[in-house]
Parts: sequence; structure tokens; C-alpha cells
Amino acid sequence: MRKRIVAGNWKMNTNIEQAVKLALDIKAQYKGSEVDVVLCPPFTNLYAVHRVIQDTTIKLGAQDLYWKDGGAYTGQISAGMLTSVGCQFVIIGHSERRQFFGETDESVNKKIKKALDYHLTPIVCVGEWLEQREANETETVVARQIRGALAGLDADDVAKLVIAYEPVWAIGTGKVATPAQAQDVHRFIRTLLAEMSGEATADGIRIQYGGSMKPDNAAELLAQPDIDGGLIGGASLKADSFLGIVNA
Ligand code: PEP
Repeated sequence: MRKRIVAGNWKMNTNIEQAVKLALDIKAQYKGSEVDVVLCPPFTNLYAVHRVIQDTTIKLGAQDLYWKDGGAYTGQISAGMLTSVGCQFVIIGHSERRQFFGETDESVNKKIKKALDYHLTPIVCVGEWLEQREANETETVVARQIRGALAGLDADDVAKLVIAYEPVWAIGTGKVATPAQAQDVHRFIRTLLAEMSGEATADGIRIQYGGSMKPDNAAELLAQPDIDGGLIGGASLKADSFLGIVNA
């Protein structure tokens, strides 16, 4: 049985006071659950949020990292920096990084390897654009992203990943994939992982859905057999809506 995982991607939202308040609100309202709960604030707020949640089971994640250990890479953040402020997870390959910051399957692959070296759990994002779905290219696109992201990883490493299927047309748009649409792609991803890394690895890996997930649509999505949690953007910025999804 796969343990569910719900992660909040705060994106470029919250200053330090807002981040601490949001983390405190979530901590106050969180009653514990069978689900892994992960908060991913901006880099500048990681340590402050770590201090708020360190005595709880809520975990900390970052929204990106760089694949070098350190050195002359102005503006970048390394895996070691993330673990030093309490991170256990890191989002890699979010569609906004692919769209606006030149992220490629190759850079995603390097980041995953570096995260694993530091025992960070990568949350690897994949997903198609609307035009690609309309052209029946969803599976081709997602397969290319998964194969690129996981190149050179053995089954033991693949087993450590979380995959987030996020159709780009559903992110921040209010247009959620239907449970059947999401389930189809999740099943496709699991079948592909079985081909690449074996049945046992594919059965154990957690695949989150992301894209306008809200408390009122979460239960139906999470009831699908291959949907093991959610990566939440907008709805993670309020304690009640984020925990509404966790409790769904
Ligand atoms: C996301 O960006 O990962 C996301 C799922 O955003 P939203 O929930 O706002 O669609």
C-alpha cells in the first residue's frame, strides 16, 4: 500500500511573516494523518518554516535546486544548502521552470541525481500542454519527460522518487483534469515505470496529481487507484483549503 503524499507548492508567494503565519496556521489546524504532508515555501522562507514545523510530522521541501555542490554559480541553491535548512523533499522540473527558466529533461535528470546524492526526495513534475493533449500527444510527451528525467537511474533510485503528473492546462487555471483523465495518465506512467524499472518499483512509487486540486474535487481524484496524492499550488496558500485536501 502506497502512503499518500500531499505537497503544497507556495511558488513565489509569501514574505517571511506570511510564510511563518501560514506554517503556524497549518500546524495549529493539522490533526495528523496517514498522509505525508510537505510544505514547499520559497528559498528565503525555508529555515523559518522549518523552525515552525520541526516538532511535527509535517515535512519541508524546496521548489528547485542546482546540480552543482557549490562554487561560482551566482544565485543558485545547492542540495547541501537545502538539507542544511531541514529540507527532505525538492520539486524538480515544474512546468513553470520548464516554461520560464529553460528547464529541460536533461537538467531535470542532473538535478534528480544530485538530490538523491543528498538523500532529498525529488518530486519530479511532468505533464502536457493543452495543444499536446488535443493532438493526442499526452503519452508521447509524458513518456519523453519520464525517460529523460530518469536516464541512468537504477531501480533502487527510481523507487525513491515521487512523480507529479501535472497537465499544464490545469495548473492555476481552475480547469481540473477529470478523475478518469488523470487516472489514465497515472496508469500510463506506472506502466512505463514498470517497463523501465520493474513491476515492484512501479507498484511502490507514488504518483501525485497536480492542477487546480481543491478540497471539493480532491476526494474524487484521490479515489483513483493510481493517484497517490496531490501537488497543490493555489489551494496550498490557505491552511483550511490545504488541509481540506490532506483530509480528503
Ligand atoms: C502547481 O503549480 O503545481 C499546481 C498544481 O498549481 P495549482 O494547484 O494552483 O493549479
